[in-house]
Amino acid sequence: MGQTGSAFSPSLFLSLSVKFSFVLELQSNVMFACVPLDTRFSDIEIRCNDMVICSEIKPSSSERHEWCIITKNLGPGSATIHNKSSDAILVDEAIIPKDGAVDIMCGSEIVPGPGGQGFLQYRFTVMPAPESRTQLLKISIDPENAKCSICLNVWHDVVTAAPCLHNFCNGCFSEWMRRCEKKHQHVLCPQCRTTVQYVGRNHFLQNIQEEMLKADTALGRPAEDVAVLDSSASIQSNLIIGSKRKRRLSTLSPTLEERDSLPLRCPQCVAPIGGYQCERHGAHLQCHLCRGMMPFRANLQVPLHCMGCDRPFCGAYWSSENVTPGESSPVCSRETFIPISERTTTRIPFITHEMNRHEQDITQRCIAQMGKTVQDVAAEWFKRFNNREIDRSRMPLNHAETITASTHVCNDCYDKLVGFLLYWFRITLPRDHLPADAAAREDCWYGYACRTQHHNEEHARKRNHVCRPTRGNHHS
Ligand SMILES: [Zn+2]
Ligand SMILES: [Zn+2]
Ligand SMILES: [Zn+2]
Ligand SMILES: [Zn+2]
Ligand SMILES: [Zn+2]
Ligand SMILES: [Zn+2]
Repeated sequence: MGQTGSAFSPSLFLSLSVKFSFVLELQSNVMFACVPLDTRFSDIEIRCNDMVICSEIKPSSSERHEWCIITKNLGPGSATIHNKSSDAILVDEAIIPKDGAVDIMCGSEIVPGPGGQGFLQYRFTVMPAPESRTQLLKISIDPENAKCSICLNVWHDVVTAAPCLHNFCNGCFSEWMRRCEKKHQHVLCPQCRTTVQYVGRNHFLQNIQEEMLKADTALGRPAEDVAVLDSSASIQSNLIIGSKRKRRLSTLSPTLEERDSLPLRCPQCVAPIGGYQCERHGAHLQCHLCRGMMPFRANLQVPLHCMGCDRPFCGAYWSSENVTPGESSPVCSRETFIPISERTTTRIPFITHEMNRHEQDITQRCIAQMGKTVQDVAAEWFKRFNNREIDRSRMPLNHAETITASTHVCNDCYDKLVGFLLYWFRITLPRDHLPADAAAREDCWYGYACRTQHHNEEHARKRNHVCRPTRGNHHS
């Protein structure tokens, strides 16, 4: 059975300037679209096998008429259009009577009414950038194969140890690692006793684990147990463990293996700094920016991970140990990883308006008109953010609820934060504060989520895209 979706499309005279709109309820991958010849209007995307396209009298009206059904054919690039309206429609200038059907190809022109005149015309086409296939594959898993060999429960926040690739709960493995560290031992895999060289969170298995617990709640554990487990979980990003012994054994001519481990060098493995030297088999984090190593130390005041993306960054750590860049090991400078309160910005991040440069330009002009700088506006809105006056649920950062002025974030996450704040600035701006040309535009029904804005320059310019979607499968 094909999936069925529906959409609403105009079958009304434009000359009457009646408003109409589309609703898409879709799950499948995008393949085709009906592109209106009048570029002020959005594409109708056809993402399922049988898509019902309807018309609607007014955006608020519940009165809707079916217009047609477009069914994908087996062959590539072809579909069948069934006329479901009360009148004839035109396909490639041929009249298709009520309840009639005809095959359409890419490039077919569709007019949703008989005379042609006054109707919005569409061209049937393949989407320029179809999304990747999202069809789901069903697989069977025995829960016995999804259990942690330390606690014997189904994994919780699963981590994978390499090279043996055994899986454990984050909390269980973190606890195990701490025990090995205390005894100054190698971290051996609790399941097979192989020396663990890496451990990291496994997001793929995490999804499987969540699906399993959803399917059979009896496999879950009490909330108190989960809380205890979470409190001992310390693996946030990939950890590199015990690559040091080889260098200790270093002779005058290093072996190939030793040379391979050289890029993993960490300043505090080489010599003690600030009274600290790495444990013999100590765990390390690799900085996302400079790719250098830093020790994975518990109970430090200084952050080793960016709160917004959970990736490790070494700038704050090494500056707290008074290690500066320019020495033999890769080390980031302090400015690469500092609290939000110390950061400034001079430009509107490209991500603020979904890469739509027209909207970016309008926001820029609004700020200039107010006699302010981007930094002024960002600081003003960060204050509101800090005072919890802004809904954080749509914020594109991890741990959004815990972010404050003293939170360390990486450069990327700071851009995302500023983009988020400037979006709020812009969307709350009264229309009469916008430049006249911008204020005169109508809202695009798909709002910020509109895909047409990315490939249709004219549409991107002529419609306002700084608004919430009022159509489409965005639940907001
Ligand atoms: Zn466990
Ligand atoms: Zn193992
Ligand atoms: Zn080290
Ligand atoms: Zn980050
Ligand atoms: Zn670094
Ligand atoms: Zn749009």
